[in-house]
Amino acid sequence: MKEIESADFESQVLQAGKVVLDFYSTECPPCEALAPKFDSLAEIYGKDIKFMKVYRQKNRDLAEKLGVFGSPTLIFFDGGKETGIRLTGGIKRSDIMFNLNAMLAPERVTELKSNLKPFTSEYDVAIIGSGPGGLTAGLYLCQARINTVLIDTGLPGGHVSLTHQVSNYPGFIDPQPGYMLSHNMSEQTKKCGSEFKVAVDVTHVDLKKKEIVIDEYETIQAKKIIIATGTSPNYLNVPGEKELKGKGISYCATCDAKYYGDKEVVVVGGGNSAVEEAEFITKFATKVTMVHQFDKFQANKQAQEKLLANPRVNVLLRHEPRYFERKGDKMAVGLENLNTGEKSELLTDGVFIFVGLKPNIDLFGGLLELDNWGYLKTDEDMRTSIDGVYAVGDVRSKKYRQITTAIADGTIAAINITRELDN
Ligand SMILES: Cc1cc2nc3c(=O)[nH]c(=O)nc-3n(C[C@H](O)[C@H](O)[C@H](O)COP(=O)(O)OP(=O)(O)OC[C@H]3O[C@@H](n4cnc5c(N)ncnc54)[C@H](O)[C@@H]3O)c2cc1C
Repeated sequence: MKEIESADFESQVLQAGKVVLDFYSTECPPCEALAPKFDSLAEIYGKDIKFMKVYRQKNRDLAEKLGVFGSPTLIFFDGGKETGIRLTGGIKRSDIMFNLNAMLAPERVTELKSNLKPFTSEYDVAIIGSGPGGLTAGLYLCQARINTVLIDTGLPGGHVSLTHQVSNYPGFIDPQPGYMLSHNMSEQTKKCGSEFKVAVDVTHVDLKKKEIVIDEYETIQAKKIIIATGTSPNYLNVPGEKELKGKGISYCATCDAKYYGDKEVVVVGGGNSAVEEAEFITKFATKVTMVHQFDKFQANKQAQEKLLANPRVNVLLRHEPRYFERKGDKMAVGLENLNTGEKSELLTDGVFIFVGLKPNIDLFGGLLELDNWGYLKTDEDMRTSIDGVYAVGDVRSKKYRQITTAIADGTIAAINITRELDN
């Protein structure tokens, strides 16, 4: 792996045939997550494609010239021209391979694939999901000197890293930015010594054999598994929603509200998430229209009062979206008044949808016992219906889903596992 400086860019990248260039920074968790994947792919593809790194902070001129504003960023070059899709943030091995394969002849890709040697890693405990529940379990297990790995399809932190401010997590006088809280949680667990395999594809899970396959080639074998996969946002399932997801329809205010400075948006939903996130969006958007199916919001009273006192907020109760459509640079939201059946269309700049969450359990192939809402049933020690498999946090059947309840579950599962492994 060669490290270059701005001055080398012309000779080492533009005139060097096929190159993949990694703009990295220090103190950058996604860069740390990328490093082992980049190294192992260099071993496989290194004869055909040059793997190079450039330290972004020290080579700002080059980064800015190439429009690189985040670390890590991977750029692919072929014959002096950028090719493929730029990758940034929590970069998956499969996405890098997709770009690398596109730079080579199909026969060569087949040949390289046949050289891939699958391997197995062994741990005492594998935790699937590294939100607050998984991270807390990882911390307790690590402090008990139990060999633990955390596996996540994204970066560590879960929902908290995407929550703009958390005001109800004890120990802090002032509200904390969610990304900072989740960063501190994951660094604490990492510093203790738990291993992280993040931004990976979890391609197969066998709960009975306690095996998890990641990126199709590494099998993780464990004595115990903790499921901490949390929840994902529900869709409304109306025409246009899937097509416009990420192109005007968002499920994350922290990620996307900043794009709506001086614009108007519609927020669908009326629970705590919808009301709190709408309040955050008013820091950017000049008008937020709340569309909610019931005749009052379900969010806590304090959050409702704050939102409703905000002059930028307009409310349409007893209304439901029926379709979304792009009309020029505007988004059309088809609405139905649930009292009168009257149909109307609202033109806006963007739509945020917060209509509840569903448990992330698709991986587990219907083997585990569920409650009526599809959440994983556990006993009070967090044991699921399969021996040696635990579930913690939002994915488990329970009444209240909060950071504090997720970390409590993680604590309980870890202490129980520690006792079992010690016996
Ligand atoms: C918009 C919003 C605002 C919120 N605000 C607050 C608040 O202010 N205070 C509060 O206490 N709570 C809040 N919550 C709730 C809180 O975030 C959750 O209760 C908490 O994050 C649950 O933690 P968890 O570890 O169970 O799951 P999550 O935080 O959901 O983490 C799950 C992790 O599992 C990973 N994962 C998912 N599927 C897979 C898979 N197949 N393989 C591997 N990994 C996988 C995900 O990438 C994620 O990192 C909020 C939630 C939302 C949605």
